Amino acid sequence: MQIDNINFENRKVIIRVDFNVPLNKDLKVTDDTRIKAAIPTINKVIADGGTAILISHLGRPKGKEEKYSLKNIVSEIEKNLGQSITFVNDCIGDVVKESIAKSEKGSVILLENLRFYAEEKAGDVDFAKKLSELADFYINDAFGTAHRAHASTSVIAQFFPNDKCFGYLIEKEIISVNKVLNSTEKPLTAIVGGAKVSSKITIIEKLIDKVDNLIIGGGMAYTFVKAQGGKIGNSLVEDDYLELALKIMAKAKANHVNFLLPIDTIIADDFSNDANTKVVNIAEIPDGWMGLDIGEKSSELFKETILNSKLILWNGPMGVFEMEAFQKGTVDVAKTLAVATENGAFSLVGGGDSVAAINKFNLNSKISHVSTGGGAMLEYLEGKQLPGIAAILN
Ligand code: AMP
Repeated sequence: MQIDNINFENRKVIIRVDFNVPLNKDLKVTDDTRIKAAIPTINKVIADGGTAILISHLGRPKGKEEKYSLKNIVSEIEKNLGQSITFVNDCIGDVVKESIAKSEKGSVILLENLRFYAEEKAGDVDFAKKLSELADFYINDAFGTAHRAHASTSVIAQFFPNDKCFGYLIEKEIISVNKVLNSTEKPLTAIVGGAKVSSKITIIEKLIDKVDNLIIGGGMAYTFVKAQGGKIGNSLVEDDYLELALKIMAKAKANHVNFLLPIDTIIADDFSNDANTKVVNIAEIPDGWMGLDIGEKSSELFKETILNSKLILWNGPMGVFEMEAFQKGTVDVAKTLAVATENGAFSLVGGGDSVAAINKFNLNSKISHVSTGGGAMLEYLEGKQLPGIAAILN
């Protein structure tokens, strides 16, 4: 059942959203991306004349901790929605039921943090049932937690056998990832960066069966360089993965995948923004120095491949982009992706740090799809069944 084909008039609709937004020490929202992302689904329900009952988690509270109360984000939701909402300081029970019963058509009710109950993360069936009693329809629009089998993301769906669907956000996430995984358009290029080979190994192995070009950057590149006999000085390395790195490269060759590593690197004599820096060949890093970003020649090399691609997937920064001195490689890739997209390619960016980089450089609107779920997107790309997705489809 697709959200666009449903009329929510007079229906009480639970929408599981992902309002796990960052807050500063004054408990003000510092990035409202996730709130913005949920608005189309909320708008659809209220425009039809239904009541939207929003449920979400925020942070990792141990019991009822005020600083994790969703009341802290009420004004931010109202600002984005353009109407006032009702906040109820619990997510199950009679007080919530009364508030919903009193609600008028087109109203929005926000319930308190689901994780104030340990039952949420435990996937407790009774808790899920209590949530389900609040509404007659269930929408899951929380892609960021779709890989978790929690009460509100997956267990609850069984109580709405014929009255459940994805929200627009999840729909778009699924369509975007499937487009990259299943499309026959070519060339398909994956850019994988970030700190460690170990955390991306499953995804790299999966991608090698799909892609035409595989670009490796970030901290993990040095493990590949060392595996081939290069000198990497004090750069990040996982010595346990040297053999596997060689196997991956051999597999890429056997699959006719164009496997690209950086050729030059910006090295530093300290892990600090103020360190002394030099640009060297990536396989010739002196002892005492570490590679913290890719160099200009690598950016150019990657650019050529990216601009020739029809589908591009990017996960993980090219360097320590949090420090200004080492952000250029990541900025270059982000900008190249924007140009490729403008030229007609489909670009998908996922994973916490690459999304943070896209936001930091204000390129969000120039990418075809920026995923809101880092872990969830990676698991979906790896081919795993996500509980939050499966619960709606079953
Ligand atoms: P991940 O979560 O695996 O995508 O890794 C992201 C992290 O990798 C960021 O915090 C980057 O600062 C870090 N990173 C990227 N390149 C390097 C590098 N050359 N050396 C150390 N850390 C890096």
